[in-house]
Amino acid sequence: SKKLRLDKLLAHMGYGTRTELKRLAKSGDILVNGKVVKDSGLQVDPETDRVTVLGQEVRYREFIYLMLHKPPGVVSATEDTRDRTVIDLLPEEYRTFEPFPVGRLDKDTEGLLLLTNDGKLAHNLLSPRKHVPKTYYARVAGNVSEQDKLAFEAGVALDDGYVTLPAKLHIVERAEEAADGLARIELTITEGKFHQVKRMFEAVGKKVVYLKRLTMGPLELDPELPIGAVRELTDSELAALM
Ligand code: URA
Repeated sequence: SKKLRLDKLLAHMGYGTRTELKRLAKSGDILVNGKVVKDSGLQVDPETDRVTVLGQEVRYREFIYLMLHKPPGVVSATEDTRDRTVIDLLPEEYRTFEPFPVGRLDKDTEGLLLLTNDGKLAHNLLSPRKHVPKTYYARVAGNVSEQDKLAFEAGVALDDGYVTLPAKLHIVERAEEAADGLARIELTITEGKFHQVKRMFEAVGKKVVYLKRLTMGPLELDPELPIGAVRELTDSELAALM
């Protein structure tokens, strides 16, 4: 299996910067297979070598899987010159893994966002051929009706002429019944065109004024996860995704 520099491995696991690790090694606080290693540039095999820092064994892993409750006002990118990104919301212990968002939510969209450094999983979830279902909750200006349900079930033409795949619309509360005159809906789509939910409602003459993603494939936004907060996926969530 692959070897890599000890300092790189430990930096990745959140044990400090290269400079800090160099100092730790110099002072004899890093062991590899029970022996003091003073050179933090040593090549190690993370799968077979036992690395100890300040008396504690390093539990190495390559991948990280995070659930973020995305707040509005941040962009789903790893870097942006103007806006704060979802990566800026992560604690340093997660950022060392260099996760990236799996797919995109608009800047003003909230809700479930998966972040990982597992490119293969990301690719599988995003592959257009896989039709991974995603459910959104929205508040919509306009009288969302049974007709819209049928239209979404049949497919609607977006502004660029693209006809959407069948999507399931559930009316949670009709505009006529809501105190603020906005309809509450849930929409499940199995593709991910740019601004898809907003553009589908535009196609039927209505406007999404609030949008939140609730699910992606088998993954559901944890109702206990506060807005802006992040946590690692549980073993069962991860098993369901794989
Ligand atoms: N559809 C949208 O219009 N926006 C999103 O952020 C996600 C789906």
